[in-house]
Amino acid sequence: MGVFESMAQYGYGEVHMARDERTQLRTIIAIHDTRLGPALGGCRFVSYVNEEAALTDALRLARGMTFKAALARLPHGGGKAVILLPDGEHDRTALLQRFGRFVDGLGGRYVTAEDAGTGLPDMEIIRTQTKHVVGLGTAHGGSGDPSPFTALGVRRGIEAYVELVLGKKSLAGLHVAVQGVGHVGYHLCKELHAAGARITLADVRDELAARAAAEVSAQVVPAAEVHRVPCDVFAPCALGGALNDRTVPQLQCKIVAGAANNQLASDDNGVALQARGILYAPDYAINAGGLINVAQEVAGYDAHASRERTLRIYDTLHAIGARSLKTGEPSHRVADAMVQEILGAAADNLQAQTSRSDHESRGHITSQMKPLSRDT
Ligand code: NAD
Repeated sequence: MGVFESMAQYGYGEVHMARDERTQLRTIIAIHDTRLGPALGGCRFVSYVNEEAALTDALRLARGMTFKAALARLPHGGGKAVILLPDGEHDRTALLQRFGRFVDGLGGRYVTAEDAGTGLPDMEIIRTQTKHVVGLGTAHGGSGDPSPFTALGVRRGIEAYVELVLGKKSLAGLHVAVQGVGHVGYHLCKELHAAGARITLADVRDELAARAAAEVSAQVVPAAEVHRVPCDVFAPCALGGALNDRTVPQLQCKIVAGAANNQLASDDNGVALQARGILYAPDYAINAGGLINVAQEVAGYDAHASRERTLRIYDTLHAIGARSLKTGEPSHRVADAMVQEILGAAADNLQAQTSRSDHESRGHITSQMKPLSRDT
């Protein structure tokens, strides 16, 4: 598929590419939408089988960022950068500096951050070339580790769904099965434990499961079984695709609400969840806490403001869940529809502003012209 055809498929207006002979930089920056503000999204630095795969990854991920930022009510659109990992030896610092200058040249239309294959030290290098970067260390006014904020948002989303589905205002005594206790899953277990929930957990890494279980008095089950534990809430916090043709029929919960990205293997799986009477928390709505926290850096980092905004994930999930229960529309489609409504309203606002400023500037020209015409 050609570049413009791919862009059209994902609803794009803007994709930037750069290459640099000296540093072997080959990068694609996809800016999906800027109606809500500058595009924000991580920079992936990985190996791709070919250039088309890199382009598709950038287009797909940036579009996902638009959705996540919109539902989190952030003043940002969605963007993503991919850097194709060079085959041979390369100077990583020089390459990232060159990338930083490229980002800078976009004048703030795209703000970069960490993603797969990049980390905090890389962001510090990029920062030497541009101010349009977030995800910096706390020593440089950055927001630090996003995982506790992601976990906080997931806990709030679970609370909203518990209220809607089980009619309970508290998680005390409820049973949550957590799949994956890495960065986010571990913090989520702590949040749930503090809220009085009973936890069953699993991780393919035994040492991580044992550590979390000891800290939150949880029961550990094998990773292959955690999704079919009878419980109130199943929280996928491992990899994408946890909700698929095999697992959805085996779930024994009322709610699915976790941090993992791309939980639904297909749209059909979301429909199947709804048909089984299980309310699903759309992943990009419930796991936005980390993005909310890192986005706070753009305006000057404030941990309190990040926390307050992350707590509001409750309202977002409550609105999605309530609309899904009322209309019978699967929740993942409700979330997508809400994003379109938010973006549509932003477009209307932009149009209104443009016509207002056109009108004002016409008025300005007219008022300037009148005295001139009198003088002549
Ligand atoms: P992580 O790699 O630290 O944790 C994932 C954990 O899942 C690991 O401990 C891994 O061993 C375990 N795991 C893998 N396969 C498993 C399986 N089949 N069964 C049980 N456990 C399994 O990653 P993370 O940062 O905690 O992120 C978890 C998920 O949340 C990812 O999908 C990520 O994209 C998403 N997410 C993370 C953040 C964040 O702030 N870190 C923000 C938004 C979304």
